[in-house]
Amino acid sequence: MSSAPIGILGGTFDPIHYGHLAIAEEVRVALRLDRILIIPAGEQPLKIGKSVASPAHRLAMAQLACADNPFFEVSSIEIDRPGPSYTHVTLQLLYNQGLDNLYLILGADALADLPRWRETPRILTLARIVVVSRPGAAIDLPALSQMFPALPERLILIEGPRLDISSTDLRRRVAQGRPIRYQTPDAVVAYIEAHGLYR
Ligand code: ATP
Ligand code: MG
Repeated sequence: MSSAPIGILGGTFDPIHYGHLAIAEEVRVALRLDRILIIPAGEQPLKIGKSVASPAHRLAMAQLACADNPFFEVSSIEIDRPGPSYTHVTLQLLYNQGLDNLYLILGADALADLPRWRETPRILTLARIVVVSRPGAAIDLPALSQMFPALPERLILIEGPRLDISSTDLRRRVAQGRPIRYQTPDAVVAYIEAHGLYR
């Protein structure tokens, strides 16, 4: 028997915003997942040196944003280990903890990065991939399936709420003194202000 179905949403969350929270909730309900693990990357291998806020700040903001959803749990599993946060390592660690029914949630733009990930075939055996639509991101399934033959049978496509929000835009807005309220929870807005992040 496999364990309860659990969604995994990884990211730099620099900062976390309603785009992240909305796709996690969409997938949770659509696939009847038990819970969602929100996992901030220690160091995103494809964004080395590019994250702006420290891991501790990104973790704290994720915790604030998820506090009122009993199905969301923030995990520091990637922040707790040194070096780049490889997804196949994280999934293997979760599997070793008895979680063998994992759904890896990706925005459509992140799916396009799959060829640049390490051990992608291994990832496909450890988790199903749930791809959620995102404004401005196209999905080239034929090309990816040619590279990874196991992909089609492990892929679930979900039509998400298509919120056109990105962390890059939020960082730019803060730097320009423009508002980010209503794009991320108030507690995250307050945290960013209190700690002077992204100025
Ligand atoms: P950045 O602009 O810094 O890359 P981001 O908004 O893309 O930030 P990430 O932390 O890179 O946020 O994203 C984590 C995951 O959430 C990725 O799989 C990404 O595709 C997905 N995601 C982020 N924002 C959205 C959104 N508005 N709609 C759908 N998926 C999203
Ligand atoms: Mg991104």
